[in-house]
Amino acid sequence: MSVLGLARPELLAMAPYSSARMEAASGDIWLNANESPWNPIAVGRINRYPEPQPPLLLTALAGLYGVDASHLFIGRGSDEPIDLLTRAFCRAGTDAVLISPPTFGMYAVAAQIQGAKQRTVPLQREHGFMLDIDGVLAAVDASTRIVYACTPNNPTGNSTAPAVLLALAECLRDRALLVVDEAYIEFSSHDSLATRAGTPDNLVVLRTLSKAHGLAGVRIGTAIAAPEVIALLRQIMAPYPLPEPSIAAAMQALSQDARLQTQARIGEVCRERERMRSALPGCAGVREVLSSDANFLAVRFDHPERRYQQLAQAGVIVRKLMKYPGLDDALRISIGTADENNAVLAALAADREVA
Ligand SMILES: *Cc1c(COP(=O)(O)O)cnc(C)c1O
Repeated sequence: MSVLGLARPELLAMAPYSSARMEAASGDIWLNANESPWNPIAVGRINRYPEPQPPLLLTALAGLYGVDASHLFIGRGSDEPIDLLTRAFCRAGTDAVLISPPTFGMYAVAAQIQGAKQRTVPLQREHGFMLDIDGVLAAVDASTRIVYACTPNNPTGNSTAPAVLLALAECLRDRALLVVDEAYIEFSSHDSLATRAGTPDNLVVLRTLSKAHGLAGVRIGTAIAAPEVIALLRQIMAPYPLPEPSIAAAMQALSQDARLQTQARIGEVCRERERMRSALPGCAGVREVLSSDANFLAVRFDHPERRYQQLAQAGVIVRKLMKYPGLDDALRISIGTADENNAVLAALAADREVA
């Protein structure tokens, strides 16, 4: 008998989360993980254990998000609070999370690892992948503990208005958490719900430094919630979740100068996104470019696999969306620098056969 015979059988049978970094083979231009194309710099004091929730970083993030530090949990990316919230609120085999696909895969993975049940209420494809509020409310039952809403949504790029989410949180009060994942909110014209997190007390907002702030490699994300939810997350977190070099890098990236640079780069990404949105429909095989409030575009192609190979041959790595419901003809293209985006257009314009 293998030692794995001792492990939980449902985990052995489970398909793991497949990250962009694991999927991509090779290439020069990385447009498959919605990262910033610019690399800020980092250092750290690493002979001591780090502070588990560093007060200076809490203060800096509280300033960035316009909230009180007592409402913040800092994690290893916002992936960690997704995992901790699932473990804190969902009893294995009993409680459920509600997910609206096509959306970010980690909500389901965290539920599976915890042994929580999953309900799905698909986004409304015929209405631009709008969140189905009535469907969500109808599907919530006594076992539901967490309802996820991703805005702007990965991988479709569309947003849900903050007022709609606030009303949903009110409806769900005393029944379930509403976890609003704002990983891409900096690129959106909508306001963040960060300042409303915890009011009502079931409203949780996730933010991250991985996308707009260019720190995907640093792994710093934040849950903003009622102080009692934050206390529970701190109770079950790893002893020293945040590496010192990551704390130091995040502090650097939140200096006033760095924040001004980040603002400028967000503006550049948004301008490039609209340029690409206008230019891509003229490229070979493009059927539709979904409008996006984020730093990526979901693009429907006549032959998505062939276009993926065509881009790969030009050294451009994008992400396949073909396994997502309603996106079986689509690729997701992150917005890079102007030169990188031009490489996408050039690769697609050259409508050559792929061996
Ligand atoms: C990228 C992403 C995250 C996770 O980011 P971290 O790097 O773990 O902070 C969370 N939610 C969505 C929707 C994302 O696309």
